[in-house]
Amino acid sequence: MKTLLLAVALGTCSVLAYAKAPIGIVIHGGAGTISRDSMSAAQEQAYHAMLTHAVNQGYAVLERGGSSLDAVTAAVIVLEDSPLFNAGKGAVYTFDESHELDASIMDGRNRNAGAVAGVSNVKNPILLARAVMEKSVHVMLAGKGAEQFAKEQQLELVDNSYFNTEFRYDALKRAKQAIAPQPHQAAVPYDPAWKMGTVGAVAIDKKGNLAAATSTGGMTAKRYGRIGDAPVIGAGNFADNKSCAVSATGHGEFFIRYQVAADICARVKYQNKTAAVAAKEVMAELKKVGGDGGVIVVDQKGQLSWTFNTEGMYRALKAEGGEVISEIFATKP
Ligand code: ASP
Repeated sequence: MKTLLLAVALGTCSVLAYAKAPIGIVIHGGAGTISRDSMSAAQEQAYHAMLTHAVNQGYAVLERGGSSLDAVTAAVIVLEDSPLFNAGKGAVYTFDESHELDASIMDGRNRNAGAVAGVSNVKNPILLARAVMEKSVHVMLAGKGAEQFAKEQQLELVDNSYFNTEFRYDALKRAKQAIAPQPHQAAVPYDPAWKMGTVGAVAIDKKGNLAAATSTGGMTAKRYGRIGDAPVIGAGNFADNKSCAVSATGHGEFFIRYQVAADICARVKYQNKTAAVAAKEVMAELKKVGGDGGVIVVDQKGQLSWTFNTEGMYRALKAEGGEVISEIFATKP
């Protein structure tokens, strides 16, 4: 069945939506100051290739009748294992020159959820979040306890240096120079150019079940055990079959304060809006209060969409009957 493409471009905010897709998946690899000028053709191609690979991995699960939960997990693992994105292997550096990772996952069938915050030695934090959801009585585990649980669950552990990459270290050095005059970095306004990023996926499976997964290294030069929105259910991640599934990326403090993911799904549920419309509204409102970022959304009717209020967002989708669409910038060349 051919899907219907609705494309709406509204200033810095773009929405692409497919209607009536029986199965489908949308992924993101972070939003922010992603401009054409700062990227070579080879880099652009590498991002498209990895986004396409991740979306295909997730879609393959859905196509063979697998669950949306397995599909979002599969896609996020690919993105976590790539150094291109700020999650897993490519995680940014903390102020103290290490890496602390956050992740969460949610099952739209029953609103089960699992989240981990500030873990430093788990290769795929999304698998730990999923283990928290499925193998523990808790929803969110942090730091040492989360790592202990990962060990007990026999998840793959790595040395923190596994997450080291040269270009993220350069980003940290630039951030530290900006912070230097005011050593209490928590009081320095965050500059998106320091580089944010997160990865995520939302999907709908053959049974109509929704799921969402989000994973991140957080924000460059973060301090004091800072936790972002990615592991906060309702902020950076949410899924409920009765409304929609959302994965977010952007300035986490705003996404937490404005409960972005839950707000989008509440508008779908209580105001009968489509997920695309609700997401566009919420991201426009967030921009007005200074919150940069973007979201990917799927609603219970199978409508897949994305919207962001930044220069770009790494993103891709595949709906039944359609090809993979992979995009980076807000505007066409
Ligand atoms: N939302 C992430 C955080 O605040 C960062 C990002 O997505 O850019 O930790």
